[in-house]
Amino acid sequence: MTTVGILGGGQLARMLALSGAPLGLRFLVLDSAPDACAAQFAPMLQADYRDQAALASFADQVDVATFDFENVPAESAEWLATRVPVFPSPRALAVAQDRMAEKSLFRELGIPVPEFAAVDSREGLEAALARVGTPCILKTRRLGYDGKGQFRIKSPADADAAWEALGAQAATVGLILEGFVAFQRELSVVAARGRDGELRAWPLTENWHESGILSASLAPAQVDQALQAQALAAARKVAEALDYVGVFALELFLRDGVLLANEMAPRVHNSGHWTIEGAETSQFENHLRAVLGLPLGSTRAVGHSVMLNWIGAMPAALPVLSEAGGHWHDYGKSPRQGRKVGHATLRADTTAELAESLERVGRALGREAQVAPVLARLR
Ligand code: AMP
Repeated sequence: MTTVGILGGGQLARMLALSGAPLGLRFLVLDSAPDACAAQFAPMLQADYRDQAALASFADQVDVATFDFENVPAESAEWLATRVPVFPSPRALAVAQDRMAEKSLFRELGIPVPEFAAVDSREGLEAALARVGTPCILKTRRLGYDGKGQFRIKSPADADAAWEALGAQAATVGLILEGFVAFQRELSVVAARGRDGELRAWPLTENWHESGILSASLAPAQVDQALQAQALAAARKVAEALDYVGVFALELFLRDGVLLANEMAPRVHNSGHWTIEGAETSQFENHLRAVLGLPLGSTRAVGHSVMLNWIGAMPAALPVLSEAGGHWHDYGKSPRQGRKVGHATLRADTTAELAESLERVGRALGREAQVAPVLARLR
């Protein structure tokens, strides 16, 4: 019996555990929150990620360890790696945790990136502004997610307000200033790399965000082969440079035919949730296969899919469940503003059928605004 340990017990761990059940896998989750939603399906150790006694007990009970949460302290991951195989490696995790390190790596690998500069002080912000120009975004280097820890700077006059909002974090998590990209589309490539170095990527996904949080995804993205190849080449370079094992996502901005890398997520990713029903093998199953050294499954898309995120509270399930290709995912979380509590995937054989289904669901749920940009792309 193989037991997979997962650091972090959110919806990603929950979906990993669900996808691992048919493979005969057991799971153990470590999370500091007593109500972590993966615990509804897998035994959980409730402890701080820095609690060495808990980490030791965790290591004793698992055959391999992985993450649902990238902000696990790098030292904890490193310590764990002395006891049990950990994938992705603590080094890959450390690079992906720091926006400065990951953007520097992208640049080193010849992958286009927005202008960026580290910011350590108020004067440093002026220097960075002069270099990057406006509009731009001041972001925390570490621990930011879903648009948190970001301040948009429209003109140099906003510098004081930006410093007021984030300056205190320069000394703790660090800051980075990034050029604002007037992108035409946001895309992501989700890929799995096995222990043997085999890389398989799902078709590119187009994403739409609301207040910095993913709102909807369309897959396969309606892009040409050249762009798909450009994205895959970038993903491969990053994965090979980090000797990455497992699933990861590379978030990209499309501007004038060029893909600029925004960030890398060293884990299964929200923009890959559609793969549960919309691909031959899901990102969750392939992540488990990768970390266990098993052959990777095909990443071929089965028809066309749209994923809609439910943020804050779950809407009514019936309109989605009434669709032939409607799939419902309730993460079993209590409602809270800005919290990802579930998602739905609509799958169809043709884009025309998908558009019809999406329009019906949008109307029935009063979510016309959420589905509108996806409908516009499909039609
Ligand atoms: P992030 O946490 O970096 O993924 O940012 C969340 C969202 O904010 C992205 O998906 C974009 O919609 C937007 N965003 C972040 N960085 C930039 C940028 N440099 N230019 C334009 N939009 C951005």
